[in-house]
Amino acid sequence: MTAKLLVVDDQMGVRRLLFEAFSEEGYEVELAGSGREALDKVRMILPDLILMDMKMPGMNGLETLHEIKKVNDSVPVIMMTAYGELEIVAEAMKLGVKEYVTKPFDINELRGLVKKTLGQVRSRQVV
Ligand SMILES: [Mg+2]
Repeated sequence: MTAKLLVVDDQMGVRRLLFEAFSEEGYEVELAGSGREALDKVRMILPDLILMDMKMPGMNGLETLHEIKKVNDSVPVIMMTAYGELEIVAEAMKLGVKEYVTKPFDINELRGLVKKTLGQVRSRQVV
């Protein structure tokens, strides 16, 4: 089964980069340009993993996380933060986020994290 990734970022360049990188890896990739759109997509497509930008106009990453938790409490999230946003990282971890990358991130690092996180989810389901 193909894993479904939801990429949430207000920057089109980041969405495009991640779409290309992860489609190439064989994932099904859905995109959202805002927190609102992300919430709609979480309801519609039931993603296996969410890659979430923290700094977005309107609903920011933390607010979006709060709302997503109400809809789907188990979907793993990898957050994308700017350097030095330690408070945001700490808040997100309280909401159950376990992994994050700092922008500008290394796409290979992110690939590895996605693989690792999906692996963890699968093995947890098997047990
Ligand atoms: Mg942003």
